[in-house]
Amino acid sequence: MPVTAGGAPRHPARDPRYDILFEPVRIGPVTARNRFYQVPHCNGMGYRDPTALAVMRGVKAEGGWAVVCTEQAEFHYTSEITPFIELRLWDDKDIPALARMVDQIHRHGSLAGIELAYNGMNGPNLYSREVPMGPAHLPIATFTNEPVQARRMDRSDIRNLRRWHLDGVKRAKRAGFDLIYVYAAHGLGFLHHFLSRRFNDRTDEYGGPIENRIRLLCEITEDARNAVGDTCAIPIRISVDELRGTAGLHRAEVEDMIGRMAELPDLWDVTLAGWDNDSRTSRFADEGHEEDFIRGIKRLTTRPVVGVGRYTSVDRMVSLVRAGVLDLIGAARPSIADPFLPKKVEEGRIDDIRECIGCNICVSGDFTQSPIRCTQNPTMAEEWRKGWHPERVKPKASDRPVLIVGGGPAGLEAAQVLGKRGYPVTLAEASKELGGRVLVESRLPGLAAWIRVRDYRQGQIRKLANVDVYLDNRLTADDVLGFGTPRVVIATGSTWRADGVGRCHTQPIQVDAAAEVLSPSDVMAGRLPRGRRVIVWDDDHYYMAGVIAELLAARGYATTYLTPAAEASTWTRATLEQHFIQQRLLRAGITITTNRAIEAIAADHVTVSCVFTDERASLPADAVVLVTARLPEEALALELRARSAEWADAGLETVTVIGDALAPATIAHATYAGRRYGEELDQAPSEEDTVPFRREIAGLVPNDDI
Ligand code: ADP
Ligand code: SF4
Repeated sequence: MPVTAGGAPRHPARDPRYDILFEPVRIGPVTARNRFYQVPHCNGMGYRDPTALAVMRGVKAEGGWAVVCTEQAEFHYTSEITPFIELRLWDDKDIPALARMVDQIHRHGSLAGIELAYNGMNGPNLYSREVPMGPAHLPIATFTNEPVQARRMDRSDIRNLRRWHLDGVKRAKRAGFDLIYVYAAHGLGFLHHFLSRRFNDRTDEYGGPIENRIRLLCEITEDARNAVGDTCAIPIRISVDELRGTAGLHRAEVEDMIGRMAELPDLWDVTLAGWDNDSRTSRFADEGHEEDFIRGIKRLTTRPVVGVGRYTSVDRMVSLVRAGVLDLIGAARPSIADPFLPKKVEEGRIDDIRECIGCNICVSGDFTQSPIRCTQNPTMAEEWRKGWHPERVKPKASDRPVLIVGGGPAGLEAAQVLGKRGYPVTLAEASKELGGRVLVESRLPGLAAWIRVRDYRQGQIRKLANVDVYLDNRLTADDVLGFGTPRVVIATGSTWRADGVGRCHTQPIQVDAAAEVLSPSDVMAGRLPRGRRVIVWDDDHYYMAGVIAELLAARGYATTYLTPAAEASTWTRATLEQHFIQQRLLRAGITITTNRAIEAIAADHVTVSCVFTDERASLPADAVVLVTARLPEEALALELRARSAEWADAGLETVTVIGDALAPATIAHATYAGRRYGEELDQAPSEEDTVPFRREIAGLVPNDDI
């Protein structure tokens, strides 16, 4: 094998333009084998699912990420972030779970990094019941407004905290980590709070001028370096801007800070604060949106710099390194959507990269305390639980063909998995293009990147000679029975209801015959309201009503967004989008009316009632778009079931309904459903009623400990 400048063996298929990404990078006493760096990211598994988490991180290492980091790891019980599920390193008992993760990462030749964290004012300590501490007396600043305050730390608290951090560092080393982070970013944790004037109003040597506010960060970093710096790298993770102007940490101030500490850490990991700014969705930021903030940091230090920006374009990564913006390409979401991104670059398989769509469904795993799920990568968090692998599938167990009806996310994912397993597959799609809901939804304002769900799968299927795709083919039950395939998958999707039934109204809304009422399906099909005054009723609470309101406002409609919730698109708190959405709607001139439910729709107005008092009011409207719920497109499945007596003669054995056609949900649910069908076909039937995945149960203490 040829060898690159940096000494790493060069894969013969690798594009020489990308060689630079495979140069090793020295990080203090350790060396990353290439420039692909999985920065810390939450995953909703943490201390509860240690083996599932360890195997997930191991798959990232297998996929070529030279550095694979943990999420936040709490190093002391006096600061924890319940109900969020992160890692714990409270005492020696927590070491084995982390050592297991390190082992999974090391076995593929990658470096393991740990992000030691002390949430301070961000952790209400609901589990430990300790009084939270921070630089100042301030209410807990977290995603929930817990009625709890943090107390101001005194000098003995600071001494204790330094000792606890050091204990955490030593334990992390014993667990085998190669990089041990000092975490001062995202507004999440005591070190960021000490840096920022927003939180730090101290008058002692830890407050006031910059040299005082960085004091604790310097002390903590020096403590760690003195203890383990001979063998472990000590990176600092810092936010270069809180995007609050001079009221918060801002680039000029942070430049001054980094300049003063330039050579103190072994690596600078630079982000934006808070997490919502750092992990913006594609609806609100393009790839590389942080570049302007991180450009120039490298001038301040000789240490390597890593940063993120939802990078999936390999040329862009190369230019970042060449232009001296970054030394290492940081990725959380791109590594979730495609844990094998580096390997694919290395092997010259750029077309096979499964690009992140920037939807933040992954983030919602953290907010819902459930194992991370990814729209693009349905194997995420299922690596151990179900034994799924993002790139490997088990070979077919028979040659019996499969007919898939519907080429949306569910049908496409089933087709590509079954195709890769080697089954003969026919995919029939009613429209002239593949993609189903992502095809139409990606044309809505801000959702263009979502077409990647279709594009990746379409690209994979095209390479498979055993998958035939028939477009413009709306199959009937007669067609299916005439096809003579033993297995049929119905992935026909869903349609938005126009009767108002949803969470708020479980019966149809009263609508005057002269009123104009539309559903999102109507609008996406190109039907626009006739009148100018439009109310968009959101009883769905995810993105759809917001993007439809945006679309209508952009076309000049006087648009009111109406919801029974207290804010626009309330579920999008879980995707870090809610305030961006509300801001965008307001700036587009859309009137937002909250806490009101529709009572009746008339030709020129809508009667609404307060969800608390029932007090009624009338809102003028020429048309209403009802964004409430969807109905499965199940007619074909129901007819096939009704004609089961004909199956044997037709050679039909099973009809399986998947995705939105079974129960409408997110796109991530649909790709998961397609994957599951593809993975489980011909699997030996498990015992009826057994749990279909592995789980880890906490060990019980001995009886005499009770
Ligand atoms: P999911 O999210 O579950 O994949 P989608 O609504 O995205 O569902 O996709 C369903 C796809 O099925 C759409 O592209 C639709 O055109 C197609 N479809 C629906 N009914 C039929 C049918 N009878 N024959 C072929 N394709 C169909
Ligand atoms: Fe990207 Fe969405 Fe997957 Fe998160 S869930 S990694 S944002 S595709």
